[in-house]
Amino acid sequence: MVYKGKIKTSKKRRVCRFSGCEQILSVYNPEVYCHVHQQFAMMQIASAPLIAR
Ligand SMILES: [Zn+2]
Repeated sequence: MVYKGKIKTSKKRRVCRFSGCEQILSVYNPEVYCHVHQQFAMMQIASAPLIAR
């Protein structure tokens, strides 16, 4: 089967912003990370003040 632009995809295909991760994000996912790295990023943010101290 060949799809020729007939499919309504999202404007842009988004992938996880975590470097090295090529997980494609769902159109319904408003986050910039995949579900795995989303937690990862949150942990980093949570621990950032401790590191900065
Ligand atoms: Zn990821």
